[in-house]
Amino acid sequence: MSNFLPANEKLGILGGGQLGKMLLQKAADYNIECHVLDPSSDAPAKAYAHYFTQGNFNDFDTVYLFGKNVNVLTIEIEHVNVDALIKLEQEGVHVYPQPNIIKTVQDKGLQKQFYQNNKIPTSPFKLVDNSNDIENSQFPVIQKLRKFGYDGRGVQKLSSASDSSIAFTEPSIIEELVDIDKELSVVVARNTIGEVRHYDPVELVFNDEANLLDYLVSPANISEEISNQAIALARQVIKSFEMVGILAVELFLTKKGELLVNEIAPRPHNSGHQSIEANFTSQYDQHLRCIFGLNLGDTNMYCPSVMLNLLGEDGYTGDADYVGLNDAMKMSGVHVHLYGKKTTKPFRKMGHVTITNENLKEAMKIADELKNTIKIISK
Ligand code: ADP
Repeated sequence: MSNFLPANEKLGILGGGQLGKMLLQKAADYNIECHVLDPSSDAPAKAYAHYFTQGNFNDFDTVYLFGKNVNVLTIEIEHVNVDALIKLEQEGVHVYPQPNIIKTVQDKGLQKQFYQNNKIPTSPFKLVDNSNDIENSQFPVIQKLRKFGYDGRGVQKLSSASDSSIAFTEPSIIEELVDIDKELSVVVARNTIGEVRHYDPVELVFNDEANLLDYLVSPANISEEISNQAIALARQVIKSFEMVGILAVELFLTKKGELLVNEIAPRPHNSGHQSIEANFTSQYDQHLRCIFGLNLGDTNMYCPSVMLNLLGEDGYTGDADYVGLNDAMKMSGVHVHLYGKKTTKPFRKMGHVTITNENLKEAMKIADELKNTIKIISK
């Protein structure tokens, strides 16, 4: 590689949420000209982009016209118009992750079939088109909408045949209920020349009420053997897709000690936020290195960490007010990120806090304290 980034590199990002904002924060270090497309006039990433286009990333013409202005195009959300991306790719725009991968990820049915075809362990499933197909299942099962589900929306447990009446009627998948011991995530990265790097597995703890990630622990409290198996699986997934970019591989560790791939996100992910402070190279930095054909960075950790999502308090909707934040800021190793969303809603992701500490137990204690200190309410 003789040159670093040529001066005329222009990056387009579909989506201007918090992931886009954090990607832009790193892109500034490399002097990359950034263009962002998002439907919201107060998208978190808007103020940090060189050029902001307000528009629908599901609309063919909007995505196509936006993409014609850049030479590298990426996403921070997978629900985008793939046909426009395919056309842009044919016309010479570097689209990463590649459009066919985005298409597979958009449909949980295609995702599961991909795992099956590539011998990647995943929970047994069947594809269903209507509730008649569900009645003769082995209950209990998990039903997931094939398309447009996120953060647990579009996922439900059906305990018995009588629950068929509450089943989703759109095309969905029916999965065996997994006896989950832990939920893990492994973030992996692959660049344009096929080099792969992984981050250590992290453990995800969910807020059952909101079905959202509550906090994560890095590294995961698992044996070295399980850790190595999880890493091998994540590397197998990114290589099977031949994907360029950063990929989060969400896994279930079953009570029997088996690892199953649940789902993937082909972009920076909530389970990699802590890498900003806790690893030599953040997931955002690594993603840019991948898609611009640069050398990959060292993924090692500086120290253990806990990442706490700051969710809007239940019962409050309106202009956001951050209670207790200033108290949190006097604590050592506490790194605050606010996404700049004007309005809070119950369980909306408003920010996150990463707690770095040599001692993971201490970091968890601080996280528990912060959960009770910081409240995001409306004014
Ligand atoms: P989303 O894409 O909305 O995040 P997921 O597929 O990750 O949906 O499912 C949300 C949560 O539901 C998971 O984090 C897990 O706790 C639970 N879940 C999903 N699939 C299963 C399963 N087969 N068995 C048991 N629990 C599951």
